[in-house]
Amino acid sequence: MAPDLPTTHDLPGVPIAPEPPTDGPLVDTFGRVADDLRISVTDRCNFRCTYCMPAEGLAWLPKTELLTFEELTKVLQLFVGLGVRSLKITGGEPTVRADLPTLVAMFREVGPDLDISITTNGVLLDTLAEPLARAGVDRATVSCDSLMRHRFEEMTRRDMLDKVLRGLQAAEAAGLTPIKINCVVIGGTNDDEVVDFATWARETGYEVRFIEYMPLDAEHRWERDRVVPAARIIDAIHQVHPLASDGPTNEPATTYRFADGAPGRIGVIPSVTQPFCDTCNRLRVTAEGQLRNCLFALEETDLREPLRSGASDAELISLIRRGVWSKWSGHRIDQADFVQPLRSMSMIGG
Ligand code: SAM
Repeated sequence: MAPDLPTTHDLPGVPIAPEPPTDGPLVDTFGRVADDLRISVTDRCNFRCTYCMPAEGLAWLPKTELLTFEELTKVLQLFVGLGVRSLKITGGEPTVRADLPTLVAMFREVGPDLDISITTNGVLLDTLAEPLARAGVDRATVSCDSLMRHRFEEMTRRDMLDKVLRGLQAAEAAGLTPIKINCVVIGGTNDDEVVDFATWARETGYEVRFIEYMPLDAEHRWERDRVVPAARIIDAIHQVHPLASDGPTNEPATTYRFADGAPGRIGVIPSVTQPFCDTCNRLRVTAEGQLRNCLFALEETDLREPLRSGASDAELISLIRRGVWSKWSGHRIDQADFVQPLRSMSMIGG
């Protein structure tokens, strides 16, 4: 009789081949290929979104714990060699990392063909959009949860809607297009604005992506009842601005165009009500060099210590392959045994 093989922690009985392959793309035991990387360049943020961070902020990492520009670039180079094709620069708020355009230029050098985008709250784009574009950023995704000044301030604890809108104009002028907007929808807070956002998408040509509220807030105040199902959002918009599905894409967002041919698009990221884990191609590296194979992972692979103690490329690649190999089948938000990760969204890099 064959000896018992170790099993995945989330699918009892499914055997894991003990070792990942030593060549080819980055794969996990479920055959998913990881080719989309999010690198967080700082854990700091200049906003205090209520669904993400407490009003007083978090205990920021000391500078010595952050990966340096050279270390971040080395990490990216390894992932590019392993087949990663798109990079999202994130945080915290990535634009608060000093000299970000210099880092972007270093990233561009190791990934000339990489699709490089940035996820930002947009507040510093009025001055940074142009230098970032010149350094090699292709596109920007800007987070914006309300188009009403008072509500924007209530949700982000910053009275900065006007500055974000100016940042968006600068991003367009710099060619960081197509521009995507990330809007976290929270029941009883901003769910009455989804049609206004759709009207805005039609006027501006932006793709507005509605994100379901996830249990990744630092204060653990997430409640299932405040998640607004993506299907309900699409329904509300469709009644006013009829939508036509774009069909399957290789993105987590399900996207729609306006049936009357108006510019702009609508996307939904239904992480809670319709998880897309079985097609997930994402990996994340935190600002202090921890590889996370899932937003909700409870385990990480430390890349910083080996990097700093002189590990060879082969050793680092083997660690990365193992980190990807151990990716679980999917998150368990809707299961009784769900455990919220210790890191909140801003410390992971959303
Ligand atoms: N500061 C940047 C920004 O604003 O885009 C990048 C980091 S931020 C953590 C990335 C995205 O995560 C933002 O769009 C934010 O709204 C979203 N986010 C934060 N906490 C969330 C939560 N609990 N549920 C869903 N999305 C969340």
